[in-house]
Amino acid sequence: MPNSSEIIEQAEQVSAHNYAPLPVVLTRAEGVWAWDVEGRKYLDCISAYSSLNQGHRHPAIIDALLRQSARLTLTSRAVHNDRMGPFLAKLCALTQMQKALPMNTGAEAVESAIKLARKWGYRSRGIPRDRAEIVVCRNNFHGRTTTIVGFSSEPQYRDDFGPFDGGFRMIDFDDSRQLSEAIGPNTAAFLVEPIQAEAGILVPRDGYLTEVRRICRDANVLMILDEVQTGFGRTGKLFAYQHDADAKPDLLVLGKALGGGVYPVSAVVADSSVMDLLTPGDHGSTFGGNPLASAVGEASLDVIVNEKLAERAAESGKRLTRGIREIHSKHIRDVRGKGLLIGIEIGPASGTAGDFARRLLSLGVLCKDTHRQVLRLAPPLTIDQGELEWLLGVLGRALAD
Ligand code: PMP
Repeated sequence: MPNSSEIIEQAEQVSAHNYAPLPVVLTRAEGVWAWDVEGRKYLDCISAYSSLNQGHRHPAIIDALLRQSARLTLTSRAVHNDRMGPFLAKLCALTQMQKALPMNTGAEAVESAIKLARKWGYRSRGIPRDRAEIVVCRNNFHGRTTTIVGFSSEPQYRDDFGPFDGGFRMIDFDDSRQLSEAIGPNTAAFLVEPIQAEAGILVPRDGYLTEVRRICRDANVLMILDEVQTGFGRTGKLFAYQHDADAKPDLLVLGKALGGGVYPVSAVVADSSVMDLLTPGDHGSTFGGNPLASAVGEASLDVIVNEKLAERAAESGKRLTRGIREIHSKHIRDVRGKGLLIGIEIGPASGTAGDFARRLLSLGVLCKDTHRQVLRLAPPLTIDQGELEWLLGVLGRALAD
């Protein structure tokens, strides 16, 4: 049985180096815990970037996966399958939207929302052909496809990957006046994350999304929320926009935890007035809405609702945030977030968040830095009281002066 270093060395030799993983090789996981090949145990506070809201290998989700895999796994959309309808019906009921477009990854769902918004702009808003604009925010993260990195403000995501087609206008996050000013006759939509997670867990002020909703409605522009990372209970509400009054978007982009930690499942949900603009051939994906994905997606939604994961995230998030604030370490510059999406900003004199992530790894906690100075803590929402207190103890040791 090869050890961690041998496995890492082999992977380094044969894989593209588009990630810089922590030096740990996982081989097994259950609930909030994961084990490496040497048998060391870790509390997973990465959760595959918030995809494991239901915990690793939730029995109900694994059961759905196994039962469906014994019957029918893939059909393509050239024919119907008996699992997609029930899954999307549940997703629409939960999101209070009329129709869903199933995809696989978050980036694909964002791409789908962009296509939908542009078509709506031409057909419903009367924007002249090929002139549609989508307003986006500085420091956004919506995925890695060429269209999406084309409107990133992060030089590394763009440099050497152009040319980019345009059609996007950038404003500051959490600034509704800039949004009003950016909207023009060719604007089809405003695309925004409720919390900019990859940018370092940047939380807008209360009421921002209420203002966004009003501005978009008044200007007849679609409001698109990317809740790929914040959705399905992560922030202490089923969807993060529900922290603000009257902030329901026109298009909601979902992914990650929709696949319950076992399978890539994403979707855009919207009302028929937008979704019905798509006609056969306009858009598609070989794997989108496949029976296995649908069975897993449906089970994933059931777990979130039945186990009240949003409520649990709200409670646990309060306890964890309060506990971190009580650590009173000179290394901590700020603690922010909502629910179980928490950022600990490390002061520049204390090194980088990556240094602390490596220290935490040696103490049995998996977490990753985001934007250099911020440690992201996002454990599965199923984390219990005892596990939370254990985590706080380790954080206290890792961040001690
Ligand atoms: N949108 C947001 C807000 C995300 O956080 C991510 C992934 N971190 C994506 C989109 C892209 O998802 P995927 O990696 O599944 O393409």
